[in-house]
Amino acid sequence: MDPAELALDPDELRRLVECAKEPIRTPGSIQGHGTLLGVDQTGVIAVVSENAARWLGQLVLEVGNAELEYAVRTGRAVDPVRITWEGVESDAIVHRVDGLTLVEIEPVPPGNEYARTAVVGAITRVAQTTSIEEVRELAAREIRDITGFDRVMVYHFHDDGHGEIVADERDPAMEPYLGLHFPSSDIPPQARALYISKIGRMIASTTAPGIPLLALAGDAHDVDLSNAELRSVSPYHLQFMRNMGQASTFSLSLVDQGRLIGMITCAHRTERRLPVLLRRALEVLAGQIAMQMASMREIARLRHMVEVRERRSELLAPLYGSDDIHAALLGGSSTVLDLVPADGVLVRIGGTSRAAGEVPPLGSVLRVLERLGGGSFVSESLVTDRPELARLLPGVAGLLVVPLTDAGEALVFFRAEVARDVSWLGDPGGTNRPGELSPRTSFSAWRRTVRGRSEPWGTVVEEAAELGRELEIALQRRAEAQLAELAMRDPLTGLYNRRYLVERLATLGPVGEAGKAVLFVDLDDFKRINDQHGHDIGDAVILEVADRLVAHSREQDVVVRLGGDEFVVLLDGVIGEDVEAVADRMIRAIAAPIVTGRVLLSVTASCGIVVADPGSPRAGLLEAADAAMYRAKNAGRNRTSR
Ligand code: GH3
Ligand code: MG
Repeated sequence: MDPAELALDPDELRRLVECAKEPIRTPGSIQGHGTLLGVDQTGVIAVVSENAARWLGQLVLEVGNAELEYAVRTGRAVDPVRITWEGVESDAIVHRVDGLTLVEIEPVPPGNEYARTAVVGAITRVAQTTSIEEVRELAAREIRDITGFDRVMVYHFHDDGHGEIVADERDPAMEPYLGLHFPSSDIPPQARALYISKIGRMIASTTAPGIPLLALAGDAHDVDLSNAELRSVSPYHLQFMRNMGQASTFSLSLVDQGRLIGMITCAHRTERRLPVLLRRALEVLAGQIAMQMASMREIARLRHMVEVRERRSELLAPLYGSDDIHAALLGGSSTVLDLVPADGVLVRIGGTSRAAGEVPPLGSVLRVLERLGGGSFVSESLVTDRPELARLLPGVAGLLVVPLTDAGEALVFFRAEVARDVSWLGDPGGTNRPGELSPRTSFSAWRRTVRGRSEPWGTVVEEAAELGRELEIALQRRAEAQLAELAMRDPLTGLYNRRYLVERLATLGPVGEAGKAVLFVDLDDFKRINDQHGHDIGDAVILEVADRLVAHSREQDVVVRLGGDEFVVLLDGVIGEDVEAVADRMIRAIAAPIVTGRVLLSVTASCGIVVADPGSPRAGLLEAADAAMYRAKNAGRNRTSR
């Protein structure tokens, strides 16, 4: 059985509902080893445990115990007060609730005094651990050393509420429980809520009957024992413990930021009590352990986050310079699968899909995406969550869909089934219980293979969503950059256009040291070509002329199509006679016969030349070059002119 499956089991749900009804804060009774007195604001003993019945209704003064009286007067005393109660050395623990001062009296257990140095040493050693596993093991070992209990276990609660025994220090004769899982109903929600506020709990005996509370007025069941040391527990829970072979337990909550992340449970096969001061000290140790666990987890989380972020920017950086997005995401030294570990991925961007790894046929994936309606989706067990989709994707157990845009673009990750063995602390099913709602009778390891599930996605879900968001932004910026670039280009030839030229001449400062030359080229009688051969041939001629101009310029030169049959060539660092030579070469190149389709034709061009000296302004260069071109036209065309 799978923890997730158990969480949905109707019997398990009924057990949870039943246990949730248990009035654990107000049981109306205390454990058998102690005595409780509830003193009201006028000093009258308004509530007692049955073993102190004779004091009900009397003034606390009349009890004649000076230490007890002192304890009541101090009210919120943090430390227990040593008193002699009915001839027995006892600890009086005082706290106030709902207008009552509750005094709990516990006889001091013989030979089990407060092991302070051991607790202080344990706190120091816990602080030196470097991994969460180490904290867990050390915690169990130290607490077993301090308490002398037969077994000390550390529980970890999974996100779905079920628990796992992650450390198990025990008498070697006892059955090992390490690594076993237990259902959420073992510790019902109201118990978890209580355990967050009260860190330590002792159950001194699983067989001794509880002692009912008596109240002077009203119902003793109304007395809130949430913070009482002697609070008695439900018969269901006592039965559970007896079934586990436990006569006494002491358990500590591991709380992180108001969340119960785990527990430390000490259990003994015979009755064993810890004195209250030692329990308090162990509560402090538990706080230290929880803090250490939380910081270990936080360090691991931050380290992982930094790593993921680095890998993400490594993946997305080459995207801007790449024509092929799919190749950038799937084919580079770092791919999407490095960020989102999966058996396969389908990248669906710009209407095309490309896959890497183990991926079902595209048609099936597209149908699944369509049924999912464009939203994000995650499953670790498609066959349980969406059987109709699982049928379309045989072999896929885990599916993670990260939508990129509303246009159906997405990253789709696939994970295969990973058969996993889960061992339970006793079969959680019905056959291991005398009744549906009874506790389990056997707690021996019960092994089940989990099928149809992938490796859990865990934090990958959030990381994949973050990748999706950043990828979307990257694609958007890339599109914007492409658009901006497009606005600077002539659609026919791909050369820069007038807008580019004007911007470039306007934004740069004066001409640099190397000087600059501007050639203005206009085809001669180009209208004739269009008239005689048609516009398409005219286009082909413009294209050919563009190619020849580029071919006769150097890499650092810029060839611009101004529009129509006009071109401009910006030459950097060419001065004097060199410029004439370059311009002549270009004019001659244009004049060479052009073959387009089945037509052989020739066209000539006139070229105006302007040479700008270093430091001269750029403004007016274009106009001057245009004027020079007209001079070439007027001088008979097919020539250059200054
Ligand atoms: P001139 O020697 O005085 O330059 O005469 P011309 O016929 O070349 O006249 P002008 O340069 O003023 O006109 C250019 C002609 O180029 C006008 C138009 O028919 C043609 N033309 C402009 N843009 C395009 C184009 O994109 N494709 C084609 N095929 N023809 C174009
Ligand atoms: Mg012309």
